[in-house]
Parts: sequence; structure tokens; C-alpha cells
Amino acid sequence: MIRVSLSVLIFIYLAVFLAVVFTLWIGLEWSRQRRERRAVRHRIRCVLCAFEFEDPSEDPLPRCPRCGSLNERERFRML
Ligand SMILES: [Zn+2]
Repeated sequence: MIRVSLSVLIFIYLAVFLAVVFTLWIGLEWSRQRRERRAVRHRIRCVLCAFEFEDPSEDPLPRCPRCGSLNERERFRML
């Protein structure tokens, strides 16, 4: 049987616990960011009237449904 002192045992327990918490944190944060990016992937903000609309097509210049102006497809930024 392996003999380990109590302080080493506590240290191992804390290290494993922190590693699990850190791994879960990174994983959940990564999946949250991926979900957020996917949600705004087709969202476009009109450069003229600032109207936000969804355009799932691959058209490089989607037309704004409110004012009819053509918009360049660029990455939508959240505040
Ligand atoms: Zn517009």
C-alpha cells in the first residue's frame, strides 16, 4: 500500500478539484461563445438605417428589407 501524508493527500485532492473546475469552465465558455457566434452568423445591420435583419442566403450583397439599400456582408459585432 502506498503511504501518503495527509498534507500531500489534501494537495492532490485540491489540485484534481481545481483541474476539473478549470476544465469545465473553459469547456462551457468555449461552447457558449460558439453558440453566440452561430446565433449572429446571418445577422446583418444595415449601414443606412441601422435595421438588423437575418439573411441566411449566401448573397454577397443582401438587400435591407426596410430601406432597400445593399449591404456588405461583414461579421456582426455584439457590444
Ligand atoms: Zn436599411
